[in-house]
Amino acid sequence: MQKLINKAEKTHILEREEISFLLRDSSVNDELFNAADRIREENVGREVHLRALIEFSNVCKQHCKYCGLRAENKNLDRYNIDEETIFKFAEKAAGYGYKTVVLQSGESNFYSEKQLVSLIKKIKSLNMAVTLSIGEKTFDEYKAYKSAGADRYLLRIETTDKNLYSKLHPDMNFENRINCLYNLKDLGYEVGTGCLVGLPEQTFESLADDILFFKKLDADMVGIGPFIPNPDTPLKDEKAGSFILALKVMALTRLLLPDANIPATTAMETLDPNGRILALQSGANVVMPNATEGEYRKKYELYPGKICINDTPAKCSMCINAKILSIGREVSKDYGKSKHFIKRIK
Ligand code: SAH
Repeated sequence: MQKLINKAEKTHILEREEISFLLRDSSVNDELFNAADRIREENVGREVHLRALIEFSNVCKQHCKYCGLRAENKNLDRYNIDEETIFKFAEKAAGYGYKTVVLQSGESNFYSEKQLVSLIKKIKSLNMAVTLSIGEKTFDEYKAYKSAGADRYLLRIETTDKNLYSKLHPDMNFENRINCLYNLKDLGYEVGTGCLVGLPEQTFESLADDILFFKKLDADMVGIGPFIPNPDTPLKDEKAGSFILALKVMALTRLLLPDANIPATTAMETLDPNGRILALQSGANVVMPNATEGEYRKKYELYPGKICINDTPAKCSMCINAKILSIGREVSKDYGKSKHFIKRIK
């Protein structure tokens, strides 16, 4: 076991069976987390990059079986924040010192391409990096957002198990999602993907495939989170994913993609009150504090128990800054471009 970790630390290569072996076995978890922490330090340093997350709409036309925003969920009070207000949230986020805004929403056509282009341009005038996380769009739409100034795009593959993918995403197409990721790369975005851990029927082998997919895509960022059952979805009676298994998938991702940006995800902290700190000590180098104001935060309910739903952006900013300093790390003052991306486009 230890030999496999040594190999991964040295070569950043593991076979599918080796990854699934490490995921199944729990005798060397601490060694795995420590190795990922070392590789993080060597390749991306001790700085933690903060991204202000603005959840600007919970309207969604998709039917992802795990997600609370799915179109069929009638128990969710839907909202679309107007562009002026979204811009105000971004301005406030800049005021707290954030250098990146992540605009996230369900997948819908409520905002026209023109509206999003103008919003991106306005936010870029604040001298911030802009990350979009708004789902599957056409090549031309991605191109328009890039031309407007968008820097990065997050689109998790969710699972690379095609069979499971089609069960969980009725009416969606696995190949199209992959296509979207390659389109984003071709257009020059910093590309982020990732997966859910602990989905019903998901195997250790399929998680190994997920990690190998991140490597094959040559992802600049990878976000990994445990699946948390939502009572308003068809998966309400399923078991939640394990925090430790999600942490292991993340640590192995760090070993195989040494210079990628890897967030300590909100879902991890939902399952363990110290989840994001443990993640930062097991390979992660990014945190995405919530910068959505007012009642919207509660209504962006992907899964139950989401942290900080009653807090303000000011509180989240102070809290995460203190946590990062408490473990001897630093909050980055720059845009936090993925080191992997910088090398990739050279
Ligand atoms: N519509 C955008 C953003 C989706 S929401 C898109 O398609 O990319 C952001 C992420 O929340 C999803 O990628 C998914 O991985 C995660 N998520 C959704 N439901 C979840 C649940 N029940 N438990 C844990 N994570 C969940």
